[in-house]
Amino acid sequence: MYDGARKKRRLMDILVVGSVAFDSVETPFGKADEVLGGSATYFSAAASYFADVGMVAVVGEDFPDEHVEMLKDRGVDTRGLKKVPGKTFRWKGRYDYDLNQAHTLETHLNVFSEFKPAIPEDYRDTPFVFLANIDPELQMEVLEQVNEPRLVACDTMNFWIEGKPEALRRLLKNVELFVINEAEAREFAGEPSLMKAARKILDSGPTTLIVKRGEYGAIMFNGDSIFSAPAYPLEDIFDPTGAGDSFAGGLIGYLANTGDLSENNIRKAIVFGSVMASFNVEAFSLERLAGLSHDDIRSRYREFKRLTHFEDV
Ligand code: AMP
Repeated sequence: MYDGARKKRRLMDILVVGSVAFDSVETPFGKADEVLGGSATYFSAAASYFADVGMVAVVGEDFPDEHVEMLKDRGVDTRGLKKVPGKTFRWKGRYDYDLNQAHTLETHLNVFSEFKPAIPEDYRDTPFVFLANIDPELQMEVLEQVNEPRLVACDTMNFWIEGKPEALRRLLKNVELFVINEAEAREFAGEPSLMKAARKILDSGPTTLIVKRGEYGAIMFNGDSIFSAPAYPLEDIFDPTGAGDSFAGGLIGYLANTGDLSENNIRKAIVFGSVMASFNVEAFSLERLAGLSHDDIRSRYREFKRLTHFEDV
């Protein structure tokens, strides 16, 4: 089990750069307009249950203080979250009955199009760096400012795979753990077989690849070893937005909490990632994710264990 009490204020455990957004989302079960979202937001909220997180991102003048307060209440260090003139990043998406597939309707980078991340001096020795989904050039600029982290992990999406493939390839040479959606892994590798796509991606830099498969869980590829974890069988999935980022938050959060990067521990971290994603999809925005207890997290982890346990013959 993880040690929720280990979190204490000292040097930060995790540095994340990514989007902080207003999302407008439609699912078959409802609709939310301009609610708090963004890859760095979901990641930080999920990871904050396990470790101390510092966030680097930018918002516009239209961003309300109450959202920053919510992150601070979760213990997130927001000194690297800058407010500048202009409008906050906006994303509009739709999910049909196949909730694994987000259809992007609009992306407005707004203040992110001019953003130059400046990493505060005392963030630079952070041991775990997560480059959440954002322009791969910004992800690279963050990496250039940190001092030999223990683990660099990153995520991306089709918007950047199609828009900045070369920047993404350069970035991956400097990344140890790459987390990506299944459809995007196939697209990025130009390979319909997931096994072959994984092999190609691992040849391009990362030592570990984790492919997120929505309601089918996640698969890890690490050298010759493969591990598959299911997703939690929820009866009602309200809004899948942020599932990937909260998965990454649980995953990296647990690794930072334990400091153990062995494959066995990465397997447990993947299950904690799945736990956090399963809570996140139960409500719009961060409604569910922001108010969990350590007991909620532990008991769902045990349910995962029961779900997947079987005996040798
Ligand atoms: P996911 O966890 O994969 O569902 O990611 C959802 C979040 O990604 C949403 O809250 C969006 O604000 C954010 N997002 C969508 N498109 C982009 C993009 N092109 N760059 C950065 N963040 C994005």
